[in-house]
Amino acid sequence: MADDTEKLWWIDREGLQKLIDYLAKQGHDIVGPRIDQGAIVYDSIRRVDELPRGWTDDSQPGVYRLQPRSDQEHFGFNVGPHSWKKYLFPPLTEVMRSRRTSDGWTMQAPDVESPRYAFLGVRACELAAIAVQDQVFVNGQTQDPLYQLRRSQLFIIAVNCTQAAATCFCTSMGTGPECEKGFDLALTEIENGFLLAIGSEAGRKAADAIPKRIALSDESQSGQQRRHRAREQITRKLDTDGIRDRLLARLDHPHWDDVASRCLSCANCTLVCPTCFCHSVDEVHHLTDDEIVRNRRWDSCFNVDFSHVAGGSVRDTTRARYRQWLTHKLATWIDQFGTSGCVGCGRCIAWCPVGIDLTQEVATLCGGNAP
Ligand code: SF4
Ligand code: SF4
Repeated sequence: MADDTEKLWWIDREGLQKLIDYLAKQGHDIVGPRIDQGAIVYDSIRRVDELPRGWTDDSQPGVYRLQPRSDQEHFGFNVGPHSWKKYLFPPLTEVMRSRRTSDGWTMQAPDVESPRYAFLGVRACELAAIAVQDQVFVNGQTQDPLYQLRRSQLFIIAVNCTQAAATCFCTSMGTGPECEKGFDLALTEIENGFLLAIGSEAGRKAADAIPKRIALSDESQSGQQRRHRAREQITRKLDTDGIRDRLLARLDHPHWDDVASRCLSCANCTLVCPTCFCHSVDEVHHLTDDEIVRNRRWDSCFNVDFSHVAGGSVRDTTRARYRQWLTHKLATWIDQFGTSGCVGCGRCIAWCPVGIDLTQEVATLCGGNAP
């Protein structure tokens, strides 16, 4: 890789637009943050003025609100209900199609095709979440061809957080708030533009194609101060020391009943989680009875049917399902994939309709730091 991966560059708003134009010309579909239905979501973007400029988000247990900012920053928010997994591991995918012919049934897997995505605005915890799903879909015992293709063609423009939400705890999980690896380019927004760091050869080529200059020392310092401010604002904690053994030693703790009395088993937490990967496979028969489509769709361990085997559901109580989710996420995930299944993004806390907070539940179950 070229030496300039070590340098910090400066670009302005126009430079960011040029970067989007360059990636589009290279055949990428650019996806980034936009405002829709009162939230900051990820969707196609082609222009810098489609970013949620001048808006921020307020996330607390059971609460998410958009609020205007007093300035015109483009990335002055944290994370919303969407994560990038909906692009790499889509909610609904056809995996096979059977057709009746005069010779009987034929079965065919669809050709694996995909847009070449470029993600703009990936936060440090989200880079970590993508790395966690890489372990699940690519680096493990089996490889998912669609995920593998989308991932191999992906271009990532990360954004360093310059503020933190009340729900963030990436510092406890060792995943943020600074973007350190796993990106092609990384931006830090400062008063007069963006600092640009290069993280890969593809990132260097893209940076070569846009107007930029070396960042001045006061600009670099401003970026550093802003990244530091985000770190300082994170007060929520999860004590991860020996968490696998501590949680698994408390499978019969009475607190699971307390959580179950509040939990609606609605599955919101798993759908917003950037690492949850549970899915089911359904077969849909056409009315003509000569075609059957097999689909993979997102599912959740909170759905009672998810653990249905001959004779009934293995986890037929909310207590059992919440315990399965939390102990998988923070304990047995480590046995399965060598990492925690949680990156500390806080989405499950904000989007739980009754404000169940895994950091608080773990503190009650195991002791350690409460938020
Ligand atoms: S469990 Fe919650 S905090 Fe952890 S990665 Fe999933 S949504 Fe984020
Ligand atoms: S913890 Fe909250 S979001 Fe998750 S299933 Fe229970 S009520 Fe729904």
